[in-house]
Amino acid sequence: MQTKGQINVQTENIFPVIKKFLYSEHDIFIRELISNAVDATQKLKTLSTMGKFDGELGDLTIQVKVDKEAKTITVADRGIGMSAEEVDKYINQIAFSGATEFLEKYKSEDANIIGHFGLGFYSSFMVSDEVEIISKSYQPDAKAVRWTCNGSPDYTMEEVEKADRGTDIILHIADDEADFLSEPKIIELLHKYCRFLPIPIQCGEEIHHEKKKVEDSEKKEGEEKPEEKDIEVRTPRIINNTNPLWKQSPKDLKQEDYLKFYRELYPMNFEEPLFQIHLNVDYPFNLTGILYFPKVRNQMEIRKDRVQLYCNQVFITDQLEGIIPEFMMLLQGVIDSPDIPLNVSRSYLQSDANVKKISAHITKKVADKLEEIFKNDRAEFEKKWDDLKVFIEYGCATDEKFYDRAKSFILFKNLEGKYFTPEEYRQKIETLQKDKNDIVVHLYATNAEAQHVYIEAAKQKGYDVLLMDGFLDTHFINILEQKLEKTRFARVDADVIDKLIEKDEAMPSKLSDEESKNLKEAFEKYADKEQFMVEVANLSETELPIMITQNEFMRRWSDMQKLSGQQTFGPTDHYNLVVNGNHPLASKILEEKDDAKKEKLITQLIDLAKLSQNLLTGEKLSDFIKRSVDYIK
Ligand code: ADP
Repeated sequence: MQTKGQINVQTENIFPVIKKFLYSEHDIFIRELISNAVDATQKLKTLSTMGKFDGELGDLTIQVKVDKEAKTITVADRGIGMSAEEVDKYINQIAFSGATEFLEKYKSEDANIIGHFGLGFYSSFMVSDEVEIISKSYQPDAKAVRWTCNGSPDYTMEEVEKADRGTDIILHIADDEADFLSEPKIIELLHKYCRFLPIPIQCGEEIHHEKKKVEDSEKKEGEEKPEEKDIEVRTPRIINNTNPLWKQSPKDLKQEDYLKFYRELYPMNFEEPLFQIHLNVDYPFNLTGILYFPKVRNQMEIRKDRVQLYCNQVFITDQLEGIIPEFMMLLQGVIDSPDIPLNVSRSYLQSDANVKKISAHITKKVADKLEEIFKNDRAEFEKKWDDLKVFIEYGCATDEKFYDRAKSFILFKNLEGKYFTPEEYRQKIETLQKDKNDIVVHLYATNAEAQHVYIEAAKQKGYDVLLMDGFLDTHFINILEQKLEKTRFARVDADVIDKLIEKDEAMPSKLSDEESKNLKEAFEKYADKEQFMVEVANLSETELPIMITQNEFMRRWSDMQKLSGQQTFGPTDHYNLVVNGNHPLASKILEEKDDAKKEKLITQLIDLAKLSQNLLTGEKLSDFIKRSVDYIK
């Protein structure tokens, strides 16, 4: 007997709405159907352990079949199944009104996360002209039921024969969704959403070839037969790993298990992570997962392989903006939590109290782990620092709480390759590098080769120089200056060394004010005014006669703009040309009466200074070379 009825729904026809709303995420129907099949199977397993089901569980593998000819996709499970009453209750009544309500509610919200959960079974209408359910309850003597619906609010229900308990969902794929009628496509989707679900899922078969020895009985008498034959072996293609590592107990796992799982997660990534954290929280919220620390040295290395969010082992998204702190997105791995509300919009998610707690907890765990390695194995931590520092600096820059934790294990590396915490470093340099205002000046270089002249000048004074060549370093320095007391950072070429760390005792000048003025004007005549500001300084005789420096703040400003991808504007390529008034060459220039000789001398000096800052190129460089050859002659 067939019954007909109308699905309990207010909207005349809900399917066009479903299609429209979930336009960009049509592929989630597979996730929804498989999730239902997994739920139904797990319910049966639970009933069985509770003694409420005493039949054979048998093989519980969920089958997914693509039939190109019939234009169907079938998802079949051997779970609890549904009786006719249950289909009526769960499919005809609740689910449909649930879907309507849902769409009404979120019509205006951004569709980003809406697609993630909520429509359940009805999402199958996004890709189907007609959907059939053939189900038989696990209850003894249950009768199987067949339900069909073609997208209008009308459905049919009838009793049918079905050998086994469980549910088959048969999707009659719409013509404009024919792309889904491909086994590789469905395998791809199953792999995306279902690869860690707890019940095995099979889609098609894997074929491989094996060599088999030819038995004597197969040989005909007198005939030469090969010893081996090629046979085709077909095995069910199981999509998923039903016991993913994050669900296992950390104490049972070895480091190589974590590395193996990393490769399983990111098969296209051939780098090894630095280390990982295994998360396992059950109060006040539920959270499991494994976070890997990848090596990150520059912007290019921020990977596509992102942290993946799961909800009870179902893949939800790897777009975690707003769910975990921004800098945590540099990490990799998985987070699994049933407590993250998924059928809501992103803006709601960001203000959700649970999400905030989860986010704070992850931050704390990450800081704990870093601190643990730092305390227990400093040498190991130092070895990993260069690969870790972008992550830590990013964390400090964007998360106050993280900085508070990280300040005990932030490291500075000096040019000798030694590492210090900020505290240790301060103690090291305090005596010599304190200026007249009691500020401890931290000198740094961004390129030991290019800034060699300036580094030497600093070393002459007995100063230590840090290496700050990371792509977030400029930004990080700004933060440290705000956090650390009486501390200033200065790049070695930001000024002449005596001015970088100004002491009380000033170097006396050999020149009179008049002579200084003349010297300055003489250099101004030949230096490019757009680019250089000439200044006469009283440095020691043994220092260089001329140097080019670039103001620390101007340079940082330009670095920051570059970092944020903006076009630099303003006087960023402006330098100081510092002439050492105490150098013998200064007196020589002042005494020189022959204008041509004077010009040659000054230009030569300016070019030498430019060379040390990599500013001499093209025609100017050729001129310099010619002039230098003349000098030697
Ligand atoms: P949800 O799964 O969010 O409850 P659905 O619309 O996907 O919403 O499903 C509605 C209900 O239909 C489920 O709660 C379940 O009771 C029943 N159901 C769906 N699929 C199956 C299945 N494969 N086996 C047994 N029951 C199912």
